Amino acid sequence: MTGVAADALGRRHQGLAAALAKRSLDALLVSHPPNIAYLTGFTGSAAFVIATADRLWLLSDARYAQTLGELSRQVAYLTPVVVPPGGGSLEEALATTLASLAPGPLGFESPHLTVRQHLDLDRRLRQAGCPAELTAADSTVEDLRLVKDAWEVSALREGGRRLSDVAKCILPKALAGTSEREIAALIEWEMRRKGFERPAFDTIVASGPNAAMPHYRAGDRRLAAGDLVVIDFGGMFQEYALDMTRTLVVGPGATPRQLECLAAVGAAQAEAFRVARVGTAPEDVDAAARRVLAAAGMGDAFAHGLGHGLGLEVHERPRLSRRRPDQAQDVLAAGMVFTLEPGVYFPGWGGVRIEDDVLATPAGPEWLTEPVHVG
Ligand code: ZN
Ligand code: ZN
Repeated sequence: MTGVAADALGRRHQGLAAALAKRSLDALLVSHPPNIAYLTGFTGSAAFVIATADRLWLLSDARYAQTLGELSRQVAYLTPVVVPPGGGSLEEALATTLASLAPGPLGFESPHLTVRQHLDLDRRLRQAGCPAELTAADSTVEDLRLVKDAWEVSALREGGRRLSDVAKCILPKALAGTSEREIAALIEWEMRRKGFERPAFDTIVASGPNAAMPHYRAGDRRLAAGDLVVIDFGGMFQEYALDMTRTLVVGPGATPRQLECLAAVGAAQAEAFRVARVGTAPEDVDAAARRVLAAAGMGDAFAHGLGHGLGLEVHERPRLSRRRPDQAQDVLAAGMVFTLEPGVYFPGWGGVRIEDDVLATPAGPEWLTEPVHVG
């Protein structure tokens, strides 16, 4: 369970009811687990939600009977549907529940329902004589998740504080002779100790030439004096993802080129933060960081987008990157949470990335993790 309060859930459901009306849907079948968590607080595996303007049905199996029972006592408009052991499949229960509701237009999440599940559901509904017309209604819940509510903001603020503390504890332990994997293990241990449920993704500890690979993970290489080390780590706090990256130089000292790269990436992040105000297009924030790196002669070395949204998933909207015609642009609004993570990568030499998490507020951007201002 995400631990979200019932009144916050109620407001999310009101938002969903408005979205259903706008899309002329009688009901929405929700199959993407983070969307189910958003609407109900339920974080178990194996579940479906059917949402109408005034009710939610949460379907799961007998392992979660107790959780569903508790939820339905807290949330008046939630009906639990528990498939008993040996009582058929979740898909069967879904079709039976939908047939009893007999909705007309029924939205589903096409990125999150397999072709087989879709065909199976369609067949079962027809067999039951249900008039439901399955129609793709993508991003209905994601649109709501884009702007965080007060409960989410406080979880993300607290998570950001704790992740910053993890960095303070562990980064001084990245000394010559320690392996990348050992540092990753220390970080994950410390995250759990500080209240994170689990890592949000595989921790990256990329040292020396490995630091030139933005998505390297952590291997057996031992840190050596003079290495640049990119450490990218994140945790789920109350089921919300926090994400940060630090780049350090293994002592005794950094070279002028290393300092130059650290300063340029730090300046790019600071400039991105300055422009990341409500009403700005994400591509303009990306462009601001890119300009700083280009001016430092490192434009070509910034090989990825500037940042991504954070929430129940570690990569969600808004996307802060160069504009892609196939993707919706989410102009920054108060309550959006995202990373700013410029980086430069030089094959064979190494790389630098600095990442912090930011909340857009009416008064301007707010750091959720504690930034380091380099140079
Ligand atoms: Zn990261
Ligand atoms: Zn990130």
